[in-house]
Amino acid sequence: MIPFLDLKKLNAPYEIAFQEKLSNVLENGWYILGAEVKAFENNFARYCGSKYCIGVGNGFDALVLIFKGYIQLGRLQKGDEVIVPANTYIASILAILEANLVPILIEPRISTFNINPDLIEEKITSKTKAILVVHLYGQLAEMEAVNTIAFANDFLVIEDAAQSHGAISNQQSIIENQKSSVAYSFYPGKNLGALGDGGAVVTNDSELNKVIRSLRNYGSETKYYNDYTGVNSRLDELQAAFLNVKLPQLDSENEKRRIISRRYLAEIKNEKILLPEWDFSNNHVFHLFVIRTENRVELQEYLYQNGIQTVIHYPVPPHKQKALSDFNKLCFPITEKIHDTVLSLPISPVLTADEVTFIIAILNKY
Ligand SMILES: *Cc1c(COP(=O)(O)O)cnc(C)c1O
Repeated sequence: MIPFLDLKKLNAPYEIAFQEKLSNVLENGWYILGAEVKAFENNFARYCGSKYCIGVGNGFDALVLIFKGYIQLGRLQKGDEVIVPANTYIASILAILEANLVPILIEPRISTFNINPDLIEEKITSKTKAILVVHLYGQLAEMEAVNTIAFANDFLVIEDAAQSHGAISNQQSIIENQKSSVAYSFYPGKNLGALGDGGAVVTNDSELNKVIRSLRNYGSETKYYNDYTGVNSRLDELQAAFLNVKLPQLDSENEKRRIISRRYLAEIKNEKILLPEWDFSNNHVFHLFVIRTENRVELQEYLYQNGIQTVIHYPVPPHKQKALSDFNKLCFPITEKIHDTVLSLPISPVLTADEVTFIIAILNKY
């Protein structure tokens, strides 16, 4: 069986370095917000071409802390509306709700699965204050168009980059302006994955940096003196140490994903399979390689019978989830079509060329 994602194989080359890091942390005897977290924050900020990085507990918290940070700074208020693509992973929407803000869902483009900037303006009300962009499946959204609308309306732009570590456009970091802030997740299956939970906020905004740095640690800058009603959401010292080992390989792992994707796009030839759109630039890091097909149940079963594991990202759109019952009456035909037809092929950096050849051959025989 070709597994969808073999994390054991993916992390195996780092094993000795991981063990060395563990020994160092044991030797130091410092387990929370130590030298490894500090080093990772510096390394990742530099990698992103940004001024600040704040390590936090996970990707969801990174988003929530951005929103709560803006609320503390008076740039957002309870009840403000945040525009967000309807087909995102539900965490983006739950983060908006967790911060007592109101998610306004909009349809994506079916060709890229990303936010359709042409549909933003019709959703703007007097309460709209921010746009949460999601670089879904690893492909950058149309940031120029989004930033233009945001600038004209004085909106904040928040980027959910949980699936897009290292995606760059025009040789530039995805952080385009002082107003934006970016949330990352280091969940093990992400392009930069820890051996447990982890997350980060990346920004050029010094005020936001300061407030989130405090909020993640009970709202305290000086121990036992609390400025805000913060939370406990710190990037773990050991996870930061493991991420410091893996970060230097991120670009080459992303390039391996692109090499596989180029082959899928060139060699999969089957009328029943719709391939994703990509301009062959480094704006895509292929966290997932997502095809569409009318009879997904049948295709997934066929692939499984032939020894290929696939996954659906995601089977149910957020607005149809039981957890979001207030949204269940809403209708998003493009989003619903995406959720009914998508299927993710294996795309990990440790997939072999022979495995890719096999997957393509089986798909072309379908
Ligand atoms: C994974 C993911 C998150 C949440 O990250 P966690 O670290 O699991 O909390 C948020 N948004 C998107 C798009 C994701 O893929």
